Amino acid sequence: MRMKMVCADCGYERSWMEYAIKCTCGGRLEIKQDFGGLDGEKLKALFQKRLAERVSVYASGVWRYKELILPELPEENIITKYEGNNGLYTSERIRRSMGIRNLYFKALSENPSGSFKDNGMTAAVSHGRYLGYSRFACSSTGNTSSSLAMYAAMGGASAYVFVPESGISMNKVLQTWAYGAQVIRFDGTYDDGISFLERKGKELGLYVCNSVNPLRIEGQKSIIYETAQYLNWELPDWIVIPGGALSNVSALGKGLEDLKQLGMIAKLPRIALVQAEGASPFHRMMAEGKDRLIPEPHPDTTASALKIGNPPSWPIARRVLQLCQGVTCSVTDEEILESKRRIDQAGIGCEPASAASLAGLNKLMREGTIDKEETALCMLTGNLLKDTDILRAQITETAIMTSPLTVEAVQRVL
Ligand SMILES: *Cc1c(COP(=O)(O)O)cnc(C)c1O
Ligand SMILES: [Zn+2]
Repeated sequence: MRMKMVCADCGYERSWMEYAIKCTCGGRLEIKQDFGGLDGEKLKALFQKRLAERVSVYASGVWRYKELILPELPEENIITKYEGNNGLYTSERIRRSMGIRNLYFKALSENPSGSFKDNGMTAAVSHGRYLGYSRFACSSTGNTSSSLAMYAAMGGASAYVFVPESGISMNKVLQTWAYGAQVIRFDGTYDDGISFLERKGKELGLYVCNSVNPLRIEGQKSIIYETAQYLNWELPDWIVIPGGALSNVSALGKGLEDLKQLGMIAKLPRIALVQAEGASPFHRMMAEGKDRLIPEPHPDTTASALKIGNPPSWPIARRVLQLCQGVTCSVTDEEILESKRRIDQAGIGCEPASAASLAGLNKLMREGTIDKEETALCMLTGNLLKDTDILRAQITETAIMTSPLTVEAVQRVL
């Protein structure tokens, strides 16, 4: 078999054709792929040819790379909305104001449900359906649930989503509900919801799609493959990622390792992981040189997608940062909102959590960690229309929303 699930603690190996999100020893599961017999140059040619696909599963920006993601899943079991295929932009205005040599934005926000969660979710739901599951569940601050609800509906299955009591974006809940998912208001935090599903999910016959599901990480690796392919297999010096549950940094790191191992990229970029100050237990652990993560019991930030106090994937994230000489930092909500305004007004747009990337880049340049002569790419994780509470608060302060203007007054404004 080309792919198996291995326990990070005891090393026990499972077939990929099993469903598990934890080992019986309590250890985290990781997928190990055997790339023996694969040739990096041939893969590049194959992936390039598939860019011309419009309707087969290979038109997807995830399944284009199927050989590196879920090689043995039969094609007919793939549930796809042609996710990935996300724009890679620059903004000359932002680049110049920062003074950096080269700056890219990867708009994962353009995914079908509006966030990068789709890259992983298509893999998890396809896997679950292939194994015969028809009930899927997750605990989510919003984007994971919208994505799960969308793919479950596409696959003719049901979705149950646990929504924490506070700090969620109503737009995301509405989207989830509209796709037909059962929305369960849960008396507890996002972290409590995960721990319930980890303990009880399997016996309730639920296929659990939180970020601890290793299949999601495999799908999310495609983000780095696609970024590398669009840049002709030469990545910038720095990849800047906002971090909440730390699934994205884990997945991107794993994707980088794959590309390096296959000889498809010559050198690893460095990863900068950015957390919101009020929800930054991982950054604190790294900055203080602690050997384990102390959960933050009351995570607090306006960037709702980053409001996670006990990120389960921290050991993987730490390994990734060590591997690529990565760094962490934290930014304030003010810095996040200022960066969001710049990204929105560049015509690219993103939700607050995503803007932590640009805010982090700014801070790391100020501190001298990232040099002007280097190049950087910010991952924009979610769509502008996802988490709009802050926009609503800001727009009601402007005159145009308070009183309708007469024609004469309009002429004065113009
Ligand atoms: C989930 C999410 C994040 C955080 O990603 P993790 O993998 O949990 O670290 C950041 N931004 C957006 C928009 C998200 O939906
Ligand atoms: Zn184990």
